[in-house]
Amino acid sequence: MKTKCLLLMMCFLLSISLSAQKKLSKNKAKIATSVENHKSNLISISDEIWANAETAFEETKSSNLLADYAEKNGFKVERGVAGMPTAFVATYGSGKPVISVLGEFDALPGISQKAQPTKEALEKGSAGHGCGHNLFGAGSLGAAIAIKELIEQGKIKGTIKFLGTPSEEKYFGKIWMVREGLWDDVDVNISWHPSAEIKADVQTSLALVDYKIEFFGQAAHASGDPWNGRSASDALELYTTGINYYREHVKPTVRMHYHIEDGGQVVNVVPDYARLWMRVRDTKRSGMMPVYERTMEMVEGAAIMANVDYKVSLISGIYEVLVNRTGGEIMQKNLEILGPISYTDDEIAFGKKIQEVTGKEQVGMDSSIKPLKATKEHPGGGSTDVGDVSWNVANINLGVTTAPKDTPWHSWAVVACGGMSIGHKGMLYASNAMAMTMLDLFENPKLVAKVKAEYKKRKSDEVYKAIIPEGPPPIPTN
Ligand SMILES: [Zn+2]
Repeated sequence: MKTKCLLLMMCFLLSISLSAQKKLSKNKAKIATSVENHKSNLISISDEIWANAETAFEETKSSNLLADYAEKNGFKVERGVAGMPTAFVATYGSGKPVISVLGEFDALPGISQKAQPTKEALEKGSAGHGCGHNLFGAGSLGAAIAIKELIEQGKIKGTIKFLGTPSEEKYFGKIWMVREGLWDDVDVNISWHPSAEIKADVQTSLALVDYKIEFFGQAAHASGDPWNGRSASDALELYTTGINYYREHVKPTVRMHYHIEDGGQVVNVVPDYARLWMRVRDTKRSGMMPVYERTMEMVEGAAIMANVDYKVSLISGIYEVLVNRTGGEIMQKNLEILGPISYTDDEIAFGKKIQEVTGKEQVGMDSSIKPLKATKEHPGGGSTDVGDVSWNVANINLGVTTAPKDTPWHSWAVVACGGMSIGHKGMLYASNAMAMTMLDLFENPKLVAKVKAEYKKRKSDEVYKAIIPEGPPPIPTN
């Protein structure tokens, strides 16, 4: 009687709906229980990463929070992989299949925000989790642990890997992890991203390349002897003017952005130094490369006009995501089993307030499960270094609602939701959906073969070549 009561209680405690629980296989029910058992720890890890809000390659506390919890749960953890102190690999089990799951944890500079539905910095000028990577890392770890427990109990055989992948927002840390061969023995990789909807993500992303341009001139008094000056910022202005004219003559899928990092310091000195961060994107790497080359040629033109010297330094570049629809279909089935996320009245009010403040229709969160979408040839949108992983191993992507519908991304509003229960619910949902999809792969070798076959077919004879300079990743030295 006592056990029955306890079981019943546990049933009601689970984060997923009762109707979903009824549809679960024995092992999937074990996953739901595992996620539930780790729920409070996963939430506090996510909240700590959220509050620390560490940026590119400086995510020491965030990386340790995840790596420590993996270690505590029996994973063998290797820290500081691929030349990045905050990158790590946590492994459990042995033999085939080898399934990996990605965990990001870096924040974005300057968008600190309290967990409230109106804009107010937690710490003015500080970073914030405007892409929800605090949820990303902790949610993926929850999925990895659920699989680990099934291997431990002898329910499935194989290896689970959790890869802690730093600096997604700035330098794209996964590229160096790919170069290190960290997915060479992996059969299928799985990943998710916080979103404003729940979807088995079968859309690609944009390829991009980042480089810096420095101009070197001759300083002089801006009024006293300007004829002695050769202005580095003149070259910078001429260059960006050229780029802005060039926009008219590129394909509509191309995007070009720049950030002026140094345009001179004061008004009365002809600047002898200027620096620009330049980015080129297109929906395919093959379309991006010629534009990238053209924008590099233009640097010389600007330097000639301003009579200055220049230096171009490649930072890194990423591939578009290679879609895997077979994997997407497996994920879709699990989303249909799990169903939508349910929200409390307070959460709905929180979401609507954000929509009111950001000028959106006040409809709250969208967590409905829609049919699997067709894969678009040119999807638009952003870029991710998951792209590089997806050209080296079959990859399955998931998006889960962690913010209200139409929320401006990379903004205070996403930070706000990631630090409270709307974000937490999405995170735990992702743990369940990813673990259940991985379980399908562990239980069915034919599915693994099918996912891998699609990967091979889509990759075809394309030879992957990372767009990064020789040498170590650009770890800050201070
Ligand atoms: Zn992101």
